Amino acid sequence: MTSRDAADSVFSRIIRGEIPCHKVYEDPHCIAILDINPLSDCHTLLIPKEPAATIDELSDDAAAALGRILPRLCRAIKKVTGCSAYNVLQNNGSEAGQSVFHVHFHIIPRFPERGWPIKGKPHPDNGPGLDLSGAWHPGMLTPDSAADLNRQLARLL
Ligand code: AMP
Repeated sequence: MTSRDAADSVFSRIIRGEIPCHKVYEDPHCIAILDINPLSDCHTLLIPKEPAATIDELSDDAAAALGRILPRLCRAIKKVTGCSAYNVLQNNGSEAGQSVFHVHFHIIPRFPERGWPIKGKPHPDNGPGLDLSGAWHPGMLTPDSAADLNRQLARLL
């Protein structure tokens, strides 16, 4: 997937005004829209106008613009929904769950007390958000692998 493909993505078409959306924010570098299939109320997507497919392809300027608005957007979503917790999720690559190949951050309010909507199809009652229980299977960082990774990354950063 390349930036050229991202320029044809559904989000690029939304940014160009070719298809409708529920836009909650726009500046010269990014937009935020409500997710059409929300995991919970006010599930929002923050999207750079730059058509990069994955975050490693994004320019520093576009990344900085996203970083500037992200906390403000999260504060607004917390206030509007009354949620006390939320997840910021960003998928890169189909194996990581990405389905729209244009960078986007999900902001997903968490309502643990709410039940699950019917699985597998959209449901009018939005659900509790992202449930990470059972999805996190940690390993153990050894001093040797930490030192090796540190050496390799330091050369590139
Ligand atoms: P991901 O799986 O991380 O690529 O997430 C893509 C998200 O985009 C999904 O949560 C979809 O529900 C959402 N989505 C796809 N098309 C639209 C659209 N036209 N308007 C709003 N959200 C959309």
